[in-house]
Amino acid sequence: MSRRKTRHKTGLLRIKGIGKKVHDAWIGYVCLACETLNLFSIGNTLLDPNDTYNTAEWRCKECDFLHSKDSPLPFKEWPSEYTDPDSIKCQRFWHAFFRIATENKEAYWKQCNACGRILPSHAFSKHSEWGPLEKQMECRSCKGAINAYLNPKRTKQQLYESNIRRRIADLLLEGENETIDIDELFKRFNNRCFKTGVKLDENKRSTWEIDHILPSSWLYPLTKENAALLSKEANNNKRNKWPSHFYTNTELIKLARITGADLELLSRKEPLVTYVQQPEPKK
Ligand SMILES: [Zn+2]
Ligand SMILES: [Zn+2]
Repeated sequence: MSRRKTRHKTGLLRIKGIGKKVHDAWIGYVCLACETLNLFSIGNTLLDPNDTYNTAEWRCKECDFLHSKDSPLPFKEWPSEYTDPDSIKCQRFWHAFFRIATENKEAYWKQCNACGRILPSHAFSKHSEWGPLEKQMECRSCKGAINAYLNPKRTKQQLYESNIRRRIADLLLEGENETIDIDELFKRFNNRCFKTGVKLDENKRSTWEIDHILPSSWLYPLTKENAALLSKEANNNKRNKWPSHFYTNTELIKLARITGADLELLSRKEPLVTYVQQPEPKK
């Protein structure tokens, strides 16, 4: 599975390793020997049931049992004329086994790019022409949360500061974040933490952070205008705070001067969501 939780510069959780594979189809099957659920990605071309029957060698990640038409069936209670791979009965079983996993689109599995779970195809709503399964990128649960997020009054309390909200914010900002030129950032902030003034060393990566001035939890992407240089400690205090809840008025003015950010927005007393568009489909 490619799910990895990592913290990026703003301290937000995000799911890496999906990227362009967001539409990939997965095979999901329960091991005949130990009943473990096995999942693996097959990319963006669905399997042909007959080819799969003839060529598949699916090894269980738990018990190593090889699912192949050349393997005897691992059912001790069955008589050997049913489990011997030379028997027609065994071959009929294998044929059906591979057909069930590959014949219909609905039999495949898919990874949600918001929560990262690999779920049966039917956990995703339809979206024509998106990948071989023609499904949405997010599972129905996450989609429900995204829709709630876009209507924040209704569920503001429930979603406030929760992980799901951060993930969704990241999802919505995917492709919007710029790569920050670190040399240039240090030069602009005179090699100092903007909040504390402490001198920072660009080469000591664990001592500094890039502050996402307008937080990604309010759907602001990381851009040159939205990046400040902070010490690790200062950034731990800033986190997802709205700029006026962390910086003094004087600091806000200075910050707007350094970065070119919109001072009126920075100095607002209450957060404002401005970016609420869905990401473009990735082909
Ligand atoms: Zn197994
Ligand atoms: Zn999900």
